Amino acid sequence: MKYVDEFRDGEVARNLSSEIARLSKGKPLKIMEVCGGHTHTIYKHGIEDVLPPNIDMVHGPGCPVCVLPMGRIDDAIAIARQPNVIFTTFGDMMRVPGSKGSLLDAKADGADVRFVYSPLDALKLAHQHPDKQVVFFAIGFETTAPSTAVTLLRAQAEGIKNFSVFCNHVMIIPGIKAILDSPDMRLDGFLGPGHVCMVIGMRPYTFIARDYGKPVVLAGFEPLDIIQSVYMTVKQLDEGRCEVENQYARVVRPEGNPKALEAMGRTMELRPFFEWRGLGFINHSALKLRPELAQWDAETKFEVPGIRVADPKACQCGEVLKGVIKPWECKVFGTACTPETPIGTCMVSSEGACAAYFNYGRFSLAAQRSRLPVINLTQAAETAVKGS
Ligand code: SF4
Repeated sequence: MKYVDEFRDGEVARNLSSEIARLSKGKPLKIMEVCGGHTHTIYKHGIEDVLPPNIDMVHGPGCPVCVLPMGRIDDAIAIARQPNVIFTTFGDMMRVPGSKGSLLDAKADGADVRFVYSPLDALKLAHQHPDKQVVFFAIGFETTAPSTAVTLLRAQAEGIKNFSVFCNHVMIIPGIKAILDSPDMRLDGFLGPGHVCMVIGMRPYTFIARDYGKPVVLAGFEPLDIIQSVYMTVKQLDEGRCEVENQYARVVRPEGNPKALEAMGRTMELRPFFEWRGLGFINHSALKLRPELAQWDAETKFEVPGIRVADPKACQCGEVLKGVIKPWECKVFGTACTPETPIGTCMVSSEGACAAYFNYGRFSLAAQRSRLPVINLTQAAETAVKGS
């Protein structure tokens, strides 16, 4: 396929959906789409409505903004408020609430917080402002870590001393393992996050099939990618197989991207543990700068509070991130918590499940609700006809 509309062909989607229904034979199946990008495709294109009703798509922890705990936001704000600092971040991080406000609030109070499109933009600012300390707020899974790594290597090669990175890169595999080990969850298969897989390849996922007996399909982000990946998952289950399959072969190579992995290995190492929102502390689940790059490490250069902060009582982001509840089941969804007034991270990020559901899914929920009486009436009518 060459053009994007070929990945959105309704006829193909309907055929695949019929096959999914035939293979799953009405059995209730829970399939987790790990990546927030998948969640947005599912809601934006109404994929839940195309799939048979026995297939329940469950949202996973693959949104890096969403899994960042409040304490790390407070740490970022503490760095941003220091004199002579230009604090740079991606746009969606600006509005994520910490315990005493967001980076946007800190900016309104006078801190020099700027949003950038890439870490290289932050490095450019360091060139332009040699009298300032420029800090880049690095977040993301293995998808974005290579760009941070390349920027650090460039800063090192050019000897730029007024640039540093506040590193919050997390790794998807320990997050998935934490969900698999969670007693709350019963899942039948996974759609793997295509963009992370582009970097790390297929091999890191084999333990899910081998040790947990669950199929994994590495999935792309267009509507037909998702539906085909669900079909491949259901087909594995029907045939009694548990394997790692690659639906996103046009992007993901089995070995991943060795150059990206090498750049990460030269600049970063595993943290012994890291806190994830909703999932708690997970061993070896995040990256920090290697000791030889300490002069570019914001956590070494600046004092950060490093205090663990509990989420607001009303917030159920943890349950949403583990797939235990759907976004609309949170008590404050769409009332106290909206994209304009977010209480939790899942409502802020462009990959957050609550933001996706608020922007697209609530219409499908409304449609489902409004359809219910019609279906019941139809069934009642059929029963009445049969009975007469
Ligand atoms: S509605 Fe808001 S508070 Fe509730 S889970 Fe979603 S982001 Fe968190």
